[in-house]
Amino acid sequence: MTKKQVKILIPLFLPSAFSYSIPDGMQVSVGDFVEVPLGSRRVKAVVWGESKDESPRIKDIFRRIDIPPMQEPLRKLIDWTASYNLAPAGTVLKMSMSIAKALEPEKPVTAYKLAGIGDVKITSARQKVIDALSCEQILTIAKIQEKSGATKAVIKSLIDKGGLKKIEVEKTYHPPALAATHVDLSPYQAEAAENLIGKVKSEKYSATLLDGVTGSGKTEVYFEAVEQAFAEDGAQVLIMLPEIILTNQLVARFKKRFGFEPVVWHSNITAKQRENNYRQIQNGTARLVIGARSALFLPYKNLKLIVVDEEHDASYKQEEGVIYQARDMAVVRAHLEKIPIILASATPSIETVENVKSGKYDELKLPSRHGGAVMPDIKIVDMRKESVNKRTWLSPSLRSALASNINRSKQSILFLNRRGYAPLTLCQSCGHRFCCPDCSAWLVEHRNPSRLTCHHCGYRHGIPKTCPKCEKEDSLVSCGPGVERIAEEVSKNFPDAKISLMTSDNIANADEAATAVDQITNGEVDVIIGTQILAKGHHFPNLTLVGIIDADLGLAGGDLRAAERCYQLLHQVSGRAGREKEKGTVIIQSYMPENSVIQALASGDRDAFIDMEAHSRKLSNMPPYSRLAGIIISGPVEANVIKTAKDIARTAPANQDVRLLGPVPAPIYLLRGNYRYRILLRSPRNINIQKWVKSLLSAVKIPSNVRVKVDIDPYSFG
Ligand code: ADP
Ligand code: ZN
Repeated sequence: MTKKQVKILIPLFLPSAFSYSIPDGMQVSVGDFVEVPLGSRRVKAVVWGESKDESPRIKDIFRRIDIPPMQEPLRKLIDWTASYNLAPAGTVLKMSMSIAKALEPEKPVTAYKLAGIGDVKITSARQKVIDALSCEQILTIAKIQEKSGATKAVIKSLIDKGGLKKIEVEKTYHPPALAATHVDLSPYQAEAAENLIGKVKSEKYSATLLDGVTGSGKTEVYFEAVEQAFAEDGAQVLIMLPEIILTNQLVARFKKRFGFEPVVWHSNITAKQRENNYRQIQNGTARLVIGARSALFLPYKNLKLIVVDEEHDASYKQEEGVIYQARDMAVVRAHLEKIPIILASATPSIETVENVKSGKYDELKLPSRHGGAVMPDIKIVDMRKESVNKRTWLSPSLRSALASNINRSKQSILFLNRRGYAPLTLCQSCGHRFCCPDCSAWLVEHRNPSRLTCHHCGYRHGIPKTCPKCEKEDSLVSCGPGVERIAEEVSKNFPDAKISLMTSDNIANADEAATAVDQITNGEVDVIIGTQILAKGHHFPNLTLVGIIDADLGLAGGDLRAAERCYQLLHQVSGRAGREKEKGTVIIQSYMPENSVIQALASGDRDAFIDMEAHSRKLSNMPPYSRLAGIIISGPVEANVIKTAKDIARTAPANQDVRLLGPVPAPIYLLRGNYRYRILLRSPRNINIQKWVKSLLSAVKIPSNVRVKVDIDPYSFG
C-alpha cells in the first residue's frame, strides 16, 4: 500500500506544490510547516493541500515543525498573489517565510529560582538577589540583575554554590496593557470614526476610502477604528506605510494614544528584532504592526483590521522580485480574512476613486483641517517672465518670500525632486556628456562627497580635471540643479540661515529621519531643502513657506500616471505649509503654468483634477478603464533580446479586444549592462489579461541569456 501523500509548497522559484508522502506515525495537516528533501538539500516548506498522485516513488517528509500552522487566508493570499501577478507561488511564499530562525520552535529560556540557602554565606549583595527571587519567582539573569541591582558575578557565585536552581521556561511576551488617551473629535471626524467603528464591529469584509486633506485628522480617525478592534482579546491590526522614514512619527503617535509599543516591520530592523517580531505576529502577542509592503505577507494569528495609509503612494508597487501592488493585495487579504480595510489619503489614486464610484469601496470624507488651520495660499511663478540669472534657480518672488520667512524665524521648505548637485555634466569645448558605461543614463554630479554617480546602477567615478574626450582642461560645466545646488544658492544668499538637506543620500533609515525631523521640530533649522522624502506625512508646526523649484519635472515622460503622480507629490509637499495657526504660502515655479496639473494645484480644486484625469484616462482607454500588462525583455546580448521580443510579439493571436503595443526599446534602454525592450498588452477590464500573457510567453522559446519579466498593472514604464 502506498503511503498517504500531500502537496507541499517550497519557498523557492517554483511555480507549484510538489507531492511528498507522510511517513508512518507522522501527523500533518494542511498549513503545517514541515521539512522535506529537495535534491540533496533539506528545505522548510508548507503543506499546501491534498494530493492524489499515489505514486510509490515519492519522497517522505522529514519532519513536522512544531510552530503555528499557516492559516488558510494567508495560503489563499499567496496563491492569489502568484496567479494575479504571474509569479511563481514558491517565490511569493518566500515573502511569508523570510525569517529562517523563526521557523523553528522557540528555544526555552534559562531562568533561575531559589534552591534553599544551605551553607551559602549571605553577603548583603547576595541577600538582594535572594529578595528579588522570593515568593517563588522564576527570573532570567538579566531580570534578577534588573530587580536586585546585583552584579552578574554575585549572581553567578550564588548559582555556583547551589543557592539558585536552573530551570528552562518558555519565553513569554507580555501583552501590553492598554492605556488609551482620547482626543475630542470634531463632528466630521466623529461621524467618520463612528462609521469605521461599526465596520470593525460587524466583522465582515469592507473597503473604505478615508479621504481628507492633509492635517484633517485621518490618523486620529482611523485610530478610533484600531481601538475598536483592540476591544477583542488578541485582535491584531496592521497599519501599512509607504516609506520606512514615516514609521517613527507614527510609532510615537501610536504610543501616546494607546500607551504601548507597536511592532514595526521593514527592511531597516535588526535580524534579532525581526525574529522576535515575527514570532510575536505569529503567536498573537503583537497587537499592532506598523510596516512597509512586506508586512502584508506575515502570518498574523488573528488579524482584524488593515489600514493602508497614503494609499495613493507609488511605493506600494514592488518592482523587484515578485512584482505586485501591496495596496491591492492588502484589499485581497482583507477580503480573504473577512475583515475591514481602510485606505487613507489626501490625494486618492484614480483607481481607488473609480472603485468608490463603482460602489466597490465606501468613502468617508474629512473636509477641513483640524483646529481651524486653513489650506495655504498657492502662487504660481511663471519662470518665463520672472528673470532668473544664469545658474541660479530661485525666482525673485521665491527669494523674497524666503528672506521674509527667515527674518521672522519661520521655517521654509524648498522642494526639488532631484538628488545630487547637477543632473548632467558636459564639456563646454567638445560637448561630451558624462554617461554611465552600463546604463543609458547621464551621470549625476554630487559634491559632498564629490563624484559622478549613476542613479540607476550605483556606478561611481571621480570628477576629472580634463575632458576625457577632447582632453581640454577646466572645460566641464554642471548643467541644471539638484538639491545640493539649491542649498549652495541659499547659503550664498542667506549666509546665516541654518539649512537641512533631506534626501535619500543623507537619510538612509528611520533613525536618521527621526533625527532630522527632531531638529526641524526643535527649531534648529530655517530652511529644509529636499526631495520627495520630505513630502509625506510630516507635521512641522512652524513651517509656513513651501517653494517648489521645478514643478514641471514630474510631468515629462510618457508615464501613464505622470500627471497624477506629479499632482499628488506637489499637493503633499504643499500640505506641509501652515499646518497650525499661521496661514501658509506655497510658491510654485513653472515654465508651463498653463499645464492642467499646475492649474489644478493653483485652483486648489482637487476633485476637479481627479475628474479631469479620470476623464482623460477613459478617453485614451487606459487603466483603471482597461487592463495593462507589461512584458520586459532584457539581456546582455542585444540581438537575442530584440529577437525574443519580436518572437513574443509575433505570436500574439489576432483578437480585437486585446491590443499589443510594441516591442519598443525601453526608455532606459541599457540598464546594468542589459539591453531592454518592452511590450505592452492592453485589454478591456472583463478580460483575463494574465491568460493572454501566459499564452504569448508559452509559445516562444526564450534563450538562456534573455530574461522575461511580467508586470501586471505596471507603474513604471522606464
Ligand atoms: P492627517 O492624518 O489627515 O494628515 P492627522 O491625524 O495627522 O491628520 O492630524 C493633524 C494634526 O491635528 C495632528 O497633530 C493631530 O494630532 C491633530 N488633530 C487632529 N484631530 C484632532 C482632534 N480632534 N483633537 C486634537 N488634535 C487633533
Ligand atoms: Zn548605471
